[in-house]
Amino acid sequence: MQTGRLIVLTGPSGVGKGTLLRSLLERHPELYLSVSATTRSPRMGEVDGKNYYFVSRSQFEQMIEAGDLLESAEYAGNYYGTPRQQVEEQIRQGKWVILEIELKGARQIEQTFPSALRIFIMPPSMTELEKRIRGRDQDTDTAIAQRLSHAQEEIAAASEFDIQIINDDLEKALLSIEAAIFTFKHN
Ligand code: 5GP
Repeated sequence: MQTGRLIVLTGPSGVGKGTLLRSLLERHPELYLSVSATTRSPRMGEVDGKNYYFVSRSQFEQMIEAGDLLESAEYAGNYYGTPRQQVEEQIRQGKWVILEIELKGARQIEQTFPSALRIFIMPPSMTELEKRIRGRDQDTDTAIAQRLSHAQEEIAAASEFDIQIINDDLEKALLSIEAAIFTFKHN
């Protein structure tokens, strides 16, 4: 049986990780995307159990205490975390599991799953990133400002990752991610 592996995708909010992931999963349905828990409110169109498990702060704190999360972090005033059980189960079954998480979580995974492949997605520039975040029109001005300052911190840490990919062209970025994952897969 094939050995399961963990792939971590990190990059600032607005860099286009969601779009890249959707295309990646369409092309490779054998990859399993972990659904995170969050205390953030659902955005328009987001579905509980599909985009996230939307939970209260006290539910989230209970999950941390019970050791149910593989990693967790506070980001722009909300908690986010990866439910441990589903990821470990998929890996046991030999699946390739993808986590789409922010920097602090990715650092925790480096400690707990040193064999994980960690990919950082870079924006072409900060100006372009701000344009994309504002263009989404999903966040308040305060949330946008928090996301931008977070983005700078995250980009400064990009070299900690195994691979850095600039998302200026979706198809090119996707090919680079595929190359990284499948080269890794055949190692
Ligand atoms: P958003 O609110 O835009 O969906 O996500 C905000 C940030 O939280 C994104 O950078 C996203 O990658 C990150 N994130 C989503 N789920 C998790 C998780 O389970 N753990 C961590 N550490 N970050 C997460």
